Amino acid sequence: MTEKKQKQKKLLSELLGEVAPEEKPSEKIEEESRSVDTEEVAEEILEEYPLNEIYPVYILHRVVYETIVMCKKAIPNEAIGILLGYKMQYKGKNYVKVVDWVTGKANQSQVFAEFTPEGVRQYTTLIDERYGESENRPRIVGIIHSHPFGSNPHFSGTDYNTFLNFPYDAEHNVFVLVDPKSGYYKTYMVLTNEEKQKDLIEVNWVEYTAR
Ligand SMILES: [Zn+2]
Repeated sequence: MTEKKQKQKKLLSELLGEVAPEEKPSEKIEEESRSVDTEEVAEEILEEYPLNEIYPVYILHRVVYETIVMCKKAIPNEAIGILLGYKMQYKGKNYVKVVDWVTGKANQSQVFAEFTPEGVRQYTTLIDERYGESENRPRIVGIIHSHPFGSNPHFSGTDYNTFLNFPYDAEHNVFVLVDPKSGYYKTYMVLTNEEKQKDLIEVNWVEYTAR
């Protein structure tokens, strides 16, 4: 392995597998799964992406695939799901790793998708069943939502109102906007702008695999 590759691999290991130095101990990822995932992820990504570039959002391949299927199934209606993962930091730069997703019963139309109270209970139960009290239990880090209009999707006024208010507006929360007809999969992040106001900013994202 060349020195450059080793460097890239080290960076990716630190980003996706290892616990970043700034991270709180409670967010530590389990030792065993870490080393395996890290190795594979690094191999997958290091060929494609330039050295030292940290993406704001990393999404597990399975999550990308399954959420696209969910959005396709819902056509012509909008779909909605919850993104699970970890907010992390590497050398002062924040990034989010999305590792799983869940959904539940929602009121859905061609211009609208919102969880019902039953849907919220369903996805909360799913998370509990899957992760219980596990030390590496992922947290809710955002929402995925579709606009199946066959074009380049943009958030509506309602979306901005919803996502920029409690409980959705936590700093670095991730909102994915999908158009399953046109193939767009856009990622936004809650960031505080220069006027100290929270905004939804489109950010780069990258898919990774862990086998
Ligand atoms: Zn919308």
